[in-house]
Amino acid sequence: MNSLFRVAILRLTLFLFLGVLAGYQIGNILLGLVFALSAFIFTMLFNYRLFQQWLDLGATTKKPLLNSFWIGIVDQINRIVGKLKEENDKLRADVEFFRDSFQVLDSAVIVIDAKGAIVWANSAALTMLGVNYERDQRELLVNLFRAPAFIKYLNNKQFDDFLIINSPGDASKTLEVQAIPFRQSQVLIFARDISELAQLERVRQDFLANVSHELRTPLTVLTGYLETLKDNASQFPSAWSNVFEQMLEQSNRMDNMVTDVIWLSRLESLPDDEYHDRVPVAGLIQSIISDISVASDKTLSLSMDSRIQSDKPISLLGSYDELHSAFSNLIQNAVKYTGPEGVISVTCYHRGDTFRVNVSDNGEGIDPVHIPRLTERFYRTDESRASSTGGTGLGLAIVKHVLGRHDARLEITSQLGKGSDFICVFPNSRLV
Ligand code: ADP
Repeated sequence: MNSLFRVAILRLTLFLFLGVLAGYQIGNILLGLVFALSAFIFTMLFNYRLFQQWLDLGATTKKPLLNSFWIGIVDQINRIVGKLKEENDKLRADVEFFRDSFQVLDSAVIVIDAKGAIVWANSAALTMLGVNYERDQRELLVNLFRAPAFIKYLNNKQFDDFLIINSPGDASKTLEVQAIPFRQSQVLIFARDISELAQLERVRQDFLANVSHELRTPLTVLTGYLETLKDNASQFPSAWSNVFEQMLEQSNRMDNMVTDVIWLSRLESLPDDEYHDRVPVAGLIQSIISDISVASDKTLSLSMDSRIQSDKPISLLGSYDELHSAFSNLIQNAVKYTGPEGVISVTCYHRGDTFRVNVSDNGEGIDPVHIPRLTERFYRTDESRASSTGGTGLGLAIVKHVLGRHDARLEITSQLGKGSDFICVFPNSRLV
């Protein structure tokens, strides 16, 4: 039996016993019992009133003057309150620990709510992003940090990617910003200073670009002489003819590589500007197909989704040269990795809120294990074939870079022996 219940029963029994005794004295036991019960109820109500007053005062640790039954209840409540307080103190200590940890970080940490209002920020957020928590809490972050690239990054919600941006307070500083969805609808923004890394990266890009430029002239001279030698091969012993051909092939390959390296480092060093060219997609792809068809025995075709009206040509907001290089790399690959009966089709269509350009071939296909790494520089599925295809291993890296600069992505699906689909996925917001 519950001890409080036992106390109550004992008290009631005591009152009834005293009632019976008193009733016996006055010769009316029933009256004695009624009197005892009334006294019991009265003391209970009186104690309940004191107990309620104690509760109203916030259930302090100072115990009120109550009988043992009500004191038992007070003790139980005190125990529960003590335990809750202990848990609350622990939680608060944990929260403070994490806040203090974020506070001493060199990197900026800002938490915003679903509407973009600042919920919390550490002190580094002030030097890096100009956000002062004391002053700016509940302000919209995009009102304080207005860089268009940052606003676009937050709106796109592609939080797997990083954003590289100049610090608003000090343009010489380069920041790497990443947003991470946090709790139910909040977003944690983390920014770290990568100025030194960015400087190293610039040195690497300059070095690559300079070396490539320096190689260009001797290579052009070399290729020119080799072409002359190949044209006059009849003046040399017959075994030399094959040698000249192979030398020319390799020098052409080096030339392609130098061109690709220069183009890639140019893409990397260009700022992420908003583009203003209106690039007519069908016209651009058709001209690439015509150029390639001249020197190829493959069947190449372009088709448009029936919903794309021919009298309203679709244009993409972007850079003509960059899109030309991306699409022609994909179409040239399709030609390269397809057999003599190869059929290559380029299809443009809408899906959901995207516009897609699919370069599809019925060639050799790609083993799925290679697909995640295909856009890495110099990654090839079969190194030994590089010289026969004339490939540089940079084509898909260029495609990925160009698409990234147009808010687009590359999707690759392929089946060994059946063919491949390289799909450029543009957001509809890029269409004009
Ligand atoms: P490469 O200059 O070697 O073609 P890329 O970056 O353009 O370099 O392509 C990387 C690799 O992806 C190629 O070496 C090839 O193995 C594979 N690849 C690209 N396109 C296709 C395709 N259409 N069909 C089969 N394999 C392809």
